[in-house]
Amino acid sequence: MRTPIIGGNWKMNKTLKEAVNTARELKEKLGNIRGVEVVIFPPFTALKSVKEVIEGTNIGLGAQNMYWEKGGAYTGEISPFMLLDVGCKYVILGHSERRQYFGETDQGINKKLKAALSLGITPVVCVGEKIEERKGGKARQIVDRQIRGCFKEITPEEAKRIVVAYEPIWAIGTGETATPEQAEEMHLFIRNILKELFGKEVSNSLQIQYGGSVKPNNIKELMEKEDIDGALVGGASLKANSFAEIIKKI
Ligand code: PEP
Repeated sequence: MRTPIIGGNWKMNKTLKEAVNTARELKEKLGNIRGVEVVIFPPFTALKSVKEVIEGTNIGLGAQNMYWEKGGAYTGEISPFMLLDVGCKYVILGHSERRQYFGETDQGINKKLKAALSLGITPVVCVGEKIEERKGGKARQIVDRQIRGCFKEITPEEAKRIVVAYEPIWAIGTGETATPEQAEEMHLFIRNILKELFGKEVSNSLQIQYGGSVKPNNIKELMEKEDIDGALVGGASLKANSFAEIIKKI
């Protein structure tokens, strides 16, 4: 059985004070929740302070991105060591906004993935197609390429420690969620690629999250599907109320 995993991606939102307040509220609402892995991904500037709030709870801390080098002359970048230093256990890699606005490629994501794994940080690797790709019947082809590119030269042992997030770009921040059937179809497709790459045991144990306009009113039907193991939540994770509501419906 795979433990469900729910992530809250705060993106480029929240001042330090706002982030700390949201984390406090969430902690209050969730108490010592069990049976679900909860992770929040505040902006870099709030990581340390949010960590102090959630210390001792079951809420995990993650970053929204990182660079693959361990340190050095890379102005403006954040290294995996720096993330470990402030208590991050997770990192989102290859979010579609990073691919779209900052030119991230599967090749670069693969380097980041290896760097995260080498230091024991759990990567949440995002894949997903654009609306025109889906309409053109290319969704599977795109996701297949992304998975194979991101997972290049990863061993089965390493793959076990990765979380995949299937996030169709047309569903992110649009209010248009994939139907549970559309999501399940792609999750199963992804699991089959992972099976081919890493074997049945690993592919069966890997958590695959769905992301794209997940709200308290649609999480349940998505979670009923066999291969949907949780959600990566953007907009609805910004308020502790709605995020906690989603988590409690799992
Ligand atoms: C996301 O940013 O990963 C996301 C899924 O956003 P939203 O829930 O707002 O669609």
